[in-house]
Amino acid sequence: MKIMKFGGTSVGRPERMHQVKDLITRGDEPTIVVLSALSGTTNALVGIGEALASADKILAKERIDTLHAHYLVFYKELLKTEEARTKAEAIIKEHFEFLNILLKISFNEAINRDILAQGELLSTKLFYTLLEELNIPAVFLPALDFMSIDENSEPELGKISEKLKAILAEFPGERIFVTQGYICKNHRNEVDNLKRGGSDYTASLVAAAIQASACEIWTDIDGMHNNDPRIVEKTRPIAVMSFDEAAELAYFGAKILHPASIWPAQLYNVPVKLLNTMQPEAHGTLIKAEVDAIGVKAIAAKDGITAIKIKSSRMLLAYGFLRRVFEIFEKYKTPIDMITTSEVAVSVTIDDLSHLDQILAELDMLGSVEVDKNQAIVCIVGNQISETKGVIKAVMDSLEDIPVRMVSYGGSRHNVSLLVDANYKNEALQKLNTGVFSW
Ligand code: ASP
Ligand code: MG
Repeated sequence: MKIMKFGGTSVGRPERMHQVKDLITRGDEPTIVVLSALSGTTNALVGIGEALASADKILAKERIDTLHAHYLVFYKELLKTEEARTKAEAIIKEHFEFLNILLKISFNEAINRDILAQGELLSTKLFYTLLEELNIPAVFLPALDFMSIDENSEPELGKISEKLKAILAEFPGERIFVTQGYICKNHRNEVDNLKRGGSDYTASLVAAAIQASACEIWTDIDGMHNNDPRIVEKTRPIAVMSFDEAAELAYFGAKILHPASIWPAQLYNVPVKLLNTMQPEAHGTLIKAEVDAIGVKAIAAKDGITAIKIKSSRMLLAYGFLRRVFEIFEKYKTPIDMITTSEVAVSVTIDDLSHLDQILAELDMLGSVEVDKNQAIVCIVGNQISETKGVIKAVMDSLEDIPVRMVSYGGSRHNVSLLVDANYKNEALQKLNTGVFSW
């Protein structure tokens, strides 16, 4: 059994939904189809929630009506028969009646999450209606029956697996199953979600839960590229990469694959394929456990990074100093991305500045603190690059005219990360492209 996940743009227009139907009916392997909401819908639902949260019922009503109008056009282009259209009308009516009722009751966070769930419920129900219209046998699998997260919002993979396997066992011989990405139940049994972009995560969790043969993520790009196509000319898709390499890159390439979607697939060794709905025959990117090719695979960057240096002679020959530094970040739930140390100082980077002032106030008690905002992490990813002769030299040679603030090398065999001023980000990506790929 395999998983095929389609993102918002792949289901965002009626003709593209028809294409999805073509893609899922090509083979004969049993398939769980995971769908996102139509593109734009989740953003619109966020907007409705925000209007309700600020008690602006007029704005909320306006936003509900705009979204409603979109679906009323969509289903007529999607479906041709009277019977299917009647079903779709009932589906749309049900979900928009729900949204309209919310205008009359008091708002809270649980209701907000219910609002956010409407997008995937609508897309899967409309898609299922299309399959019915075309007499394509399929089973509708409500994700809320098996997807769950615990009190820390972490997916309960063991429970998901048990429940999903039991449900699937009720449908022997069926080939196509349709379910929602993104949505789940939480530990209070309320509707919840896996955070924005979470449909990829659903796909990977479902793949792990049933130990699928493959997890296909269908988007509108031809895989993960070896550099940022917006900044560097002639980038190309990476044909094969390992889970470890993908995990290093995911932080930077979150747009194409939700970073959390690597671990479930890796845990059960399910290959992940990034494929393009617009070019279904293209190879895309295959992510799997073992890769043979040694050397640099990709370069990526992320700006909006802040570097913090804590300098203290108390660090010299002392133990426990780093723990005290890290505890402060932990206390404010702020992830650290990069770390470098010297005998008397440690530099770390963060991208979440929500608690910066409190963090700095506490760090100040440990030593002298310096902050550099507006930095960028540039990351070079590949197989065994830390052992491959010449890679670090090629990296440094490429960047000889760019001031480098931090270097992190040897933390894993797959990655070299550098911190530069964000103004140098594009130049660094371009120079590395020539420097490390032609090398
Ligand atoms: N519909 C959700 C979002 O837009 C989940 C997803 O598409 O992955 O964030
Ligand atoms: Mg996405």
